[in-house]
Amino acid sequence: MNFLSAIESKRDGKILSPETIERLIRDFTAGKIPEYQMAAMLMAIYFRGLNTQETRALTLAMRDSGDALKFPKDKRPLVDKHSTGGVGDKVSLPLAPLLACLGFRVPMISGRGLGITGGTLDKLDSIPGFKTILPKEQIVDIVQKVGCVICGQTERMVPADKKLYALRDATGSVPSIPLIVSSILSKKLAENLDALVLDVKFGAAAFMQTKAEARKLARAMVALGNECGVNTRAMLTDMNSPVGRTAGNWLEVKGSVECLNLGAGVPPVSIFRKENNNKTGRMPAPRYDLRGLIITCAAHLLLQTRKEKSLKVARKVAENCLNSGAPRAKWDEMLIAQGADLKAFNEKLSLDHTAPVVLELKSSKAGFISRCDARIIGEVVRDLGGGRLTKESAINYDVGVDRMWKPGEAVHRGATLARIHATTPLQAASAAEQLKTAFEVRAKSHRAAPLVAEIIES
Ligand code: URA
Repeated sequence: MNFLSAIESKRDGKILSPETIERLIRDFTAGKIPEYQMAAMLMAIYFRGLNTQETRALTLAMRDSGDALKFPKDKRPLVDKHSTGGVGDKVSLPLAPLLACLGFRVPMISGRGLGITGGTLDKLDSIPGFKTILPKEQIVDIVQKVGCVICGQTERMVPADKKLYALRDATGSVPSIPLIVSSILSKKLAENLDALVLDVKFGAAAFMQTKAEARKLARAMVALGNECGVNTRAMLTDMNSPVGRTAGNWLEVKGSVECLNLGAGVPPVSIFRKENNNKTGRMPAPRYDLRGLIITCAAHLLLQTRKEKSLKVARKVAENCLNSGAPRAKWDEMLIAQGADLKAFNEKLSLDHTAPVVLELKSSKAGFISRCDARIIGEVVRDLGGGRLTKESAINYDVGVDRMWKPGEAVHRGATLARIHATTPLQAASAAEQLKTAFEVRAKSHRAAPLVAEIIES
């Protein structure tokens, strides 16, 4: 194949045939196309775009570049959720066991974080003994037996995406809608799903900063997912504030277990009453966002797979299941299946902190939180060592921020706005200076923006 003429065609805004795209991906995966030529092609795509047929051909060629997961026939539908990434976004962790308890099979193939957005696998790596890299056969086996697994791509799954993503990352061609669509959907299609819900984030800490951009990406993914036989929906969600009250790998695992525990009847942290004058002793309700997102994802999957007929009923079913405590027990089952040392995990869970230094950031005035900036919080966590600057960076699992107060909530003077978990006192002090700028407290109360802004079904 004359690859140069394909590059020239795309450079000049012409349409590539499905055969050309298939060949291109096959040859690139096999190492027959030099990276400098593929980099030129990616840049041509970045500027010229791909139409729907080209994007479809690229997605399917990438899916077929390696192994797909194959599951035995079973009445439990295969479902998954994908998030475009955010700060404190731990939704996958409690969602997978909840979905398994709702009668789904969940082969949740996840990724690692880069920059300010955390990765599900990095969070799970903070659990003693937990294995995030599993052979294909074991992934299928755990899904069949437990109902859910959260792990990384195997070496042989969608290898074209691994090579292409590394090249896009190094050549400034990541933010291209057809390239993002094909990258995300090729991996999800290789899971052989019945239904998929996409959490497309917009705002300060999101990949897509505006709602309009997020909507464009969501519509493209929903259209292609459905066309490829996977019932696909997207929710556009606000990523101006972090999800939940924790950001940082281990702290997010703790936050996820706490969310499952609330359902299992374990008393919530009473520290909020003592420290922040909250009369109920519960974390205040207005932005109960982590739980809300989990229930929304589960409810839509119940509708998409026709297990339920109305969103109202589906939400109730998901909520009752979460409250039953069964997903908390399922979480332990998943941990054991993936090699975790449950005793060591529970001991770690019982510790207030695992980082050497904890520093509280206090509010200098009374009022209502009007801003809790996810981008700044993501940068604080990354600079503490909890995130990666490059793909090769080692990360510190114990650092981060917890007990964050969120927009709309009332605080008194001297209340703890958040806690910093750091390696040294100096690092904590510098993080506090940075973190201070993330919070804004105003005299007047205001309504926080809705977390789920839109649902895109077709
Ligand atoms: N996540 C992916 O998996 N691929 C992209 O291209 C962007 C985000």
